[in-house]
Amino acid sequence: MLKNDPLEQWDRDIFLHPSTHLAEFARGNVPQRIVTGGKGSHITDRNGNRLLDGFAGLYCVNVGYGRQEIAEAIADQARELSYYHAYVGHGTEASVTLAKMVLDRAPDHMSKVYFGLGGSDANETNIKLIWYYNNIRGLPEKKKIISRWRGYHGSGLMTGSLTGLHLFHKKFDLPMAQVLHTEAPYYYGRPKGEMTEEEFSAWCASELEAMIEREGPETIAAFWAEPVLGTGGIVPPPKGYWEKIQAVLEKYDILLVADEVVTGFGRLGSMMGSDHYGLKPDLITIAKGLTSAYAPLSGSIVSDKVWKVLEQGADELGPLGHGWTYSAHPIGAAAGVANLKLIDELGLIENAATVGRYLNDRMRETLGDHPNVGEIRGEGMLCAVELTADRSTRAAPDAGDKVTQRAVGHLLENGIIARAMPQAEIIGFAPPFCLTQDEADEIVEKTARAVNEVF
Ligand code: PLP
Repeated sequence: MLKNDPLEQWDRDIFLHPSTHLAEFARGNVPQRIVTGGKGSHITDRNGNRLLDGFAGLYCVNVGYGRQEIAEAIADQARELSYYHAYVGHGTEASVTLAKMVLDRAPDHMSKVYFGLGGSDANETNIKLIWYYNNIRGLPEKKKIISRWRGYHGSGLMTGSLTGLHLFHKKFDLPMAQVLHTEAPYYYGRPKGEMTEEEFSAWCASELEAMIEREGPETIAAFWAEPVLGTGGIVPPPKGYWEKIQAVLEKYDILLVADEVVTGFGRLGSMMGSDHYGLKPDLITIAKGLTSAYAPLSGSIVSDKVWKVLEQGADELGPLGHGWTYSAHPIGAAAGVANLKLIDELGLIENAATVGRYLNDRMRETLGDHPNVGEIRGEGMLCAVELTADRSTRAAPDAGDKVTQRAVGHLLENGIIARAMPQAEIIGFAPPFCLTQDEADEIVEKTARAVNEVF
C-alpha cells in the first residue's frame, strides 16, 4: 500500500467489492489492488507492479490490453453519437453493423441478435424469450429450466438460480422454483466405480432423461449449458457428451441454450463453442469476448426456429415488452465492431488455438505426473490444474490447508495472475489470445514452483 494513499483507504472503507469476503477485506486480509494500466497480456497497478494476466481479467480481455484501434473506435463513436436507444425500430450504424458481424460468426441456423449489457442480463433475456415462446405456442406449463451443477450463468435472480455453484445461492432466497440442476459433465469427479468417459457421458444423459421423465416433459422448457464449464472448474465435455445430451433434448422438445459468454468469439480456438462441439443451440448467450471487455455489451442470439414463433406471436401480443435503456449501446457496439475486426486481422483465434495447445501441453509435461496434481485439462486458451491430496484416489486436499489459494498467492508474488476456481481445488488460467509461447512457458514454470511450494 502506498503511504497515506487516500484512494486505497476509500477503497477499503466505502467500495463494496463483488465476490469478495467483505469482512476480511475490511480487516485488510484480502489483498487490495488498484489497477492502473494494461498492455498486451500484462496489467500494472498503483504500486508499480507489472503482472502477467493469466485470466484476461475475468476471461474477457481476449485481444489483450491497450488496443488503440478499439480505444479510437470508442472515442470516435462517443464524439459522433454517444447514445441513441434501440426501441421501436431505432438503431445506430455501429449496432446494426455489429448485429451483422455477430450473425456472420454464429452457426448458420441463427437469425437474430438482441443486445444487452452483460452475460447475466443476456441470459435473463433468453429466459424471458423462452417463456414467451412457449406461451405463444400455447404451452404455458412448459417453463422449467434445467441447468447443471457447476454451471455459471450469472448473478441475477433467475440467472443466479441457474448457476449451479452453492456460493452464488447461499442466503439470497433466489427464486429456484422453476430451475432444476442435473449432473455436471465432470469426469474427474465422477461417482465411485470405474467408468469410461463414454459411459460417464451416457450416465449424464440418462440422469437428464430421468429428471425430465420425473418432472414431466411438458413442464420442461430448456436446458442451459456452457459448451465448456468455465467458472465451475474449466471442464471440457467428456467424449460423446454433447451428442447424447442433444438426442435427449430433441426427443422431449426441449430447447438448448448455449451460454457462450466465455467460449464465444475464440476462446476454444474456434469462433464459437457450439461449432467446436457440433452443438445446434436454439439460443446462444454472448458477452465478454464480444467486445473483449473494452465496453459492456452482451447479446442473445436467436435461432430461426424460435424467431418464427416470436414473430407469429407479435400480431396478437403487440410490441415485445422487454428492453434496457442501454440495449445495443452504440459505444459498446463500436467496441464490438473494432474488436471482431481486430481478432480477424491479427489471426487471434488461430493464436488462441496454437498457444493454448502449447500451454496445455507444457503444463501436462511439467506437472502431469506430480503426486498432488489430479488432472490437467483445457481446451483452446483455457487450462486448469486440479490439485489433490492423493493422485490415486483423487481425494481433495484438506480444505483448511487452502492449497489452491496459497498456490495462486505464490503465483501472484511471482508476477502471474491465476484464479482459484470456486468449489474445488482448481488453479485456472484463461489468458488473452495474444499470449506468446514465452509467456506460456513463464506461466507453466511458475505454476510448477507454486505447486511444489504448497505441498
Ligand atoms: N455466463 C457465463 C458462462 C459466465 O462465465 C458469466 C460470467 O462469468 C456470465 C454468464 C455472467 O456474465 P456477467 O458477469 O457479464 O453478467
